Amino acid sequence: MSFMEYAAAPESTSILNIRPHYGLFINNEWVEGRGESFTSISPSTEAELFTVSEADGRDVDRAVTAARAAYDKVWSRMSGAERGKYLFRIARILQERAREFAVAETVDNGKPIKETRDVDVPLAAAWFFYYAGWADKLDHAGLGANPRSLGVAAQIIPWNFPLLMLAWKVAPALAAGNTVVLKPAETTPLTALMFAEVCQQAGLPAGVVNILPGKGSITGRALVEHAGVNKIAFTGSTSVGREIARSVAGSDTKLTLELGGKGANIVFDDAALDQAVEGIIQGIFFNQGHVCCAGSRLLVQENVHDEVLERLTRRLATLRLGDPLDKNTDIGAINSREQLETIHRIANTGEAEGAERWTLDCAIPDKGFWYAPTIFTNVAASNTIARDEIFGPVLSVLTFRTPAEAVTKANNSPYGLSAGIWTEKASRMLTVADQLRAGVIWANTFNKFDPASPFGGYKESGYGREGGRHGLAAYLAKGEGR
Ligand code: NAD
Repeated sequence: MSFMEYAAAPESTSILNIRPHYGLFINNEWVEGRGESFTSISPSTEAELFTVSEADGRDVDRAVTAARAAYDKVWSRMSGAERGKYLFRIARILQERAREFAVAETVDNGKPIKETRDVDVPLAAAWFFYYAGWADKLDHAGLGANPRSLGVAAQIIPWNFPLLMLAWKVAPALAAGNTVVLKPAETTPLTALMFAEVCQQAGLPAGVVNILPGKGSITGRALVEHAGVNKIAFTGSTSVGREIARSVAGSDTKLTLELGGKGANIVFDDAALDQAVEGIIQGIFFNQGHVCCAGSRLLVQENVHDEVLERLTRRLATLRLGDPLDKNTDIGAINSREQLETIHRIANTGEAEGAERWTLDCAIPDKGFWYAPTIFTNVAASNTIARDEIFGPVLSVLTFRTPAEAVTKANNSPYGLSAGIWTEKASRMLTVADQLRAGVIWANTFNKFDPASPFGGYKESGYGREGGRHGLAAYLAKGEGR
């Protein structure tokens, strides 16, 4: 028996206190939405978890009105130091309830407990701690004296890091003095609804944070089109981002768009190859590849291609796919049936267009949505799998001979969100990084996040930055963004 065959040690769901039904959270109260209720299921088991009511246009109006009143009467009048205290309190409650949040996120999203426990939840708390520290120091943000907040921020988030994306958006907005109406993604509303409870626990004044579950086409659209919104922060697909940009064009609503990506992970022949292999795995198989900044294109120097692939597939054979609540699980479930179909559809073009497929040989559970880690070699830059965002555990491998060719291939994408460079030569690292058109570039690592570090894209990956001082500026009148 290998050490990987220990019995499963699943994290218990008994610590969860999921309600059978959730309403909308408006003005610190739970109210029923006027839209149709929908059921949230667990992607790893397809078990029904709870029902949620949906916000329609009138509910959106109610929430924006509550956020406006809270802004005018309370939040914008409060000192930065006072606002900061609320944010610190929220951060501490997230830490206290960390285990519960980790289990909830894993059940609702399908990602491994290892990740929610060690990445999603601690980082979400870190984001609140970081921006809590800024709340009374806005004069030092380099944006002039007394920078002004914007008013009501509408925030729309995707399903891949539900709590973390909420933290990325809510923490800087509140620190800067804005109030919030947030719409979580259809398939993953749970931790946003639990976050509403955290706001109550923290004693946050009514109306400062409002949470509206619902479909993008109904709740999301109504929120974007509401005239009372001063700022829209959207993270999601490039196609919806475009639609939102069109609908606010000509208005004075500020907009931040964090969209898709097709990150290049560039491995030079002088790299520490075992470390690079870990970085390649982290780059594309972390969170089942449901990562906007995933390293979904591996660009490997031709003379080490075979060796890297050999080490990569050997290492992948030690990964475990299955029950995401099992602490040993590395690869969890795909978030939804719809996303699984998208992955199949794009990946199936791989062989048809001449690439060679390698799939991890592993057992797939009977229930739920699963996709075994897959690698395509012999990929041409023009292939669909090299161009389209798959948003799943699928790696496309391309080769290069010279640093200049690596840069050209890496930049040959409509996206420009992330890239990784693996080399032991510092001068090469700096020269190549300088030439890449990507908002985030990792040096000998991948998919590392820090609240102090700005994050965002070039080209069709969006505009504006989240994180750091820049993320704060996006919620201030003199800030960056559009
Ligand atoms: P999506 O665009 O379908 O949905 C994102 C959110 O927008 C959801 O809450 C959805 O309900 C809402 N929405 C959908 N249509 C809308 C509309 N017409 N008006 C207003 N809101 C609407 O994207 P998704 O499938 O949930 O997420 C995956 C995408 O998000 C990928 O492309 C990924 O790269 C991107 N993403 C980007 C970042 C980043 O920081 N750049 C981070 C995570 C995910």
